[in-house]
Amino acid sequence: MIGKPCLLPLLIEKYQALIRRLTEDLLIGGQVVSDYNNRMTGFRGEEQVMNFHLEPISDLNYRIYHDLRFLHGNYYFQIDILILCAYFALVLEVKNWAKDWHFEKVLHQTMIDKDGKLERVKNPIFQARLQAFKLREWLKLHNFTGLPIKYLFVNSNENTNIIIGDDNKYKWNVCNSEYLLERIDQISNDFKIEFYDEKELRKINKLLLTNHTPENPNLLQKYNLTRKDIRSGVHCPKCNFLPLQYHAGTWKCPKCRTKSKTAFIDTLNDYFYTISPTITNAEARSFLQIPSPKITHHLLNSADLASTGKFKFKIYHK
Ligand SMILES: [Zn+2]
Repeated sequence: MIGKPCLLPLLIEKYQALIRRLTEDLLIGGQVVSDYNNRMTGFRGEEQVMNFHLEPISDLNYRIYHDLRFLHGNYYFQIDILILCAYFALVLEVKNWAKDWHFEKVLHQTMIDKDGKLERVKNPIFQARLQAFKLREWLKLHNFTGLPIKYLFVNSNENTNIIIGDDNKYKWNVCNSEYLLERIDQISNDFKIEFYDEKELRKINKLLLTNHTPENPNLLQKYNLTRKDIRSGVHCPKCNFLPLQYHAGTWKCPKCRTKSKTAFIDTLNDYFYTISPTITNAEARSFLQIPSPKITHHLLNSADLASTGKFKFKIYHK
């Protein structure tokens, strides 16, 4: 079953809001777009593995989790995909790079092809192994010990090759996504002793889901931007143009002629994702470009937001 489905991570939604709101000159050739594209490519790879390659076993006795992130000590560790069953757990590190992977057998260095030259990168097998190690330690802290935890680097890019020698001792810790089911079959053949019963698996399931903490950085800080760099105005739900024209409860896009009565809700989300997790009536008026406090009050109340305080001190939260 799917323990945690593959949904667009909060971080990617925050990047999308930021990119929509920055002016061209801050975007062109900048780090923001390049980091966003890398994240998105990675997500597309994980999505392909989750929704296509693992789909045939999602009805069996496996619990499959996409994107788990836990605090361990002072740091977080993150697992792209976790497969859990009564006999073992399997940590997948998924990469969707458009480069061939070369694994060397003596020092276990990893290289990718960059314009015909080999360039050294972090060994993704060791990244997977480290996440498995941290998961083992973390589960131990929560009184779940001893479950065998295997790890695997999965190349989800079907246009690239993995080059690894037959004598490389990590050759069973790496595979292409099309071979993943076969590898899971092989691993499951090695573990015949039931480690946890259904009740304990349900407990672990709850532990994983309640402790998962999505990556949620302040992107303005990360890229040395200020709130002045964020463009205000309600954006078009279809073409992202902003600001839309407001008249009598309806926003209209001058570019693609889309009309919407609810476009302000996504714009409030952009505010929460880029500027602050809370908003006041005055701040919403300025961001939505609505002069009337009364209309803004009505819009904020209809947006289904949590709120604290009263009257002019009222603060709305996502
Ligand atoms: Zn539009």
